[in-house]
Amino acid sequence: MLSIKLIMMIVGVNVNILSSHHLEEAAVIVDGHKDILKARRSNLYVNEKSSERYRSPSEGFSIEWKDKSRSYEGSLEVWAEDGELILVNKVEEDAYLASVVGAEMVPGAELEALKAQVVLCRTFIYTGCRHQDEPWDLCDLTHCQSYRGLETVTAATGKAVAETEGMFLTYHGEPCKIYYHSTSGGRTADARSIWPDEYAPYLRSVPDHYCSASPHYSWRYTLTSSQIAQALDITHVSDIEVVESAPDNRVIEIRIRGSESVIYLGWQFRMIMTRKLGWGTLKSSWFEVHKDGEGFIFTGHGLGHGVGFSQWGAAGMADDGAGFKEILAHYYPGTEVKRW
Ligand SMILES: [Zn+2]
Repeated sequence: MLSIKLIMMIVGVNVNILSSHHLEEAAVIVDGHKDILKARRSNLYVNEKSSERYRSPSEGFSIEWKDKSRSYEGSLEVWAEDGELILVNKVEEDAYLASVVGAEMVPGAELEALKAQVVLCRTFIYTGCRHQDEPWDLCDLTHCQSYRGLETVTAATGKAVAETEGMFLTYHGEPCKIYYHSTSGGRTADARSIWPDEYAPYLRSVPDHYCSASPHYSWRYTLTSSQIAQALDITHVSDIEVVESAPDNRVIEIRIRGSESVIYLGWQFRMIMTRKLGWGTLKSSWFEVHKDGEGFIFTGHGLGHGVGFSQWGAAGMADDGAGFKEILAHYYPGTEVKRW
C-alpha cells in the first residue's frame, strides 16, 4: 500500500478523458498555441502531419471539440485507435481530487460533506482500479469517478482536499473497498443485496433519513408491458412479481411472466431497464411493482445501488453539523479515517 502510494505521488494519476465523446478531431491549446489533432483509423495527425503521439509541451491545457471546450491541469498524451483520439491526462493526485469531488458531490454541500467525499475518492484511487488492462488508471465517467477538469474545481473543493491530505478510509488498518451512491432513499443497501459475491463488514445496511431532501428520495415510474418486453427481448409481458426482497428492502429476485417466465436478480433487472430505457426509469432496486392496465407502476426509493456512502445523506448530515469522520463512520460502520 505504502509503496503504491509513493509511486502514485511521484507519477500522478493517469485519466482517460473524453472517451464517451468518441472524438475524431479536437484542438489542444497549450500556452495560447493551438494544435489540431485528427484520428484516421489508427493514425494520428497533428496539424495534418502524421505523428505517432502527441505530448503537451507544458503543464495545463484546454481541449476544444465541436462547440465544447474544457480545461485541465497536468499534461496530455494523445494517440489514435480505430478512428478515435485516445486522450490521457496525467495529473497530480490533489488536482484530480479537487476536480472529482466537485463533479461527484451534491452541489452546494457543506465543507465536511466534501471532505468525506474526498477521503472516499482518494481511497478509491488505490483500491478501486477497474482498468488493469489499459494504459491508464481511471476513466472520467462514473464507472470510476466523474472528472471534468477545472470545470468543477472551486475554493471549497481545494480546501476539502487540503484539509484531508493523505487521509484514507480503513478497516483494521487496511484501505476499504469504496462504493458510494447518490441517494439511499431512507436505508442504505447491504452490498450482498446488490452483488451476491461482494461482502465486507463495513458495506452493510444502515438507516439514512439524512437524504430526505434529495429529489430522488421517493419516485414512481410507469412502464408499458411492451417497453419492458422490448428491453428484455421477449414478445410480451403479462405479469411481474417481486419474488424476494432483502431486509434492506432491495429486490433480490423478480419474476417476469409472458411469452416466457424468467427470473432476474433485482439489480440485474434494474440495470437492463436503465440501459435500454434511461437511467430515470428504475432509479434503484428498492421498489414495488403493480399492474395497471397495459402498464406496470414502479414505486421506489433512492438513486443508485445504495451501498456505502449516500451523497445526499452526507450533505444532510453536514447540514446538521456532523464532521467528515462522523459521516464516514455512519455509512461504513467499524471503519476509521487514517493518514498514510
Ligand atoms: Zn472507469
